[in-house]
Amino acid sequence: MARLQSLRPQVASLPSRLKSTFTLGREQEAYGQGRGGRPWRRKRDAVLKRDGYVCQPCKRNNHTTMATEVDHVIPQAEGGSDDETNLQAICDPCHKAKTADEAKRGANRSRSGGTSQRGTRS
Ligand SMILES: [Zn+2]
Repeated sequence: MARLQSLRPQVASLPSRLKSTFTLGREQEAYGQGRGGRPWRRKRDAVLKRDGYVCQPCKRNNHTTMATEVDHVIPQAEGGSDDETNLQAICDPCHKAKTADEAKRGANRSRSGGTSQRGTRS
């Protein structure tokens, strides 16, 4: 009898322990979903600063446009990394044009299965 009674508090403490690990797991999950939040923002700022807030595609065309976005030089869909070396400052119109171009290229590629079509014209 005395033994059974001493066991009881241990059993009672178990559910609360489980509960705390459960909430911890949920927090980690929520943190995982937050990817692309603060770390990306910091990287974005670093790239913008590095490129002097000047749109790089515009700069190549001898235009100086203030960059408001950061773009993947090689799209992630095409195997580009998330590294700063693969990122460039870009203005909104260029970003939209590039994204549309990439989408078109991706569609072409999956249809024809070749890389014969190149979007560069300079
Ligand atoms: Zn631009």
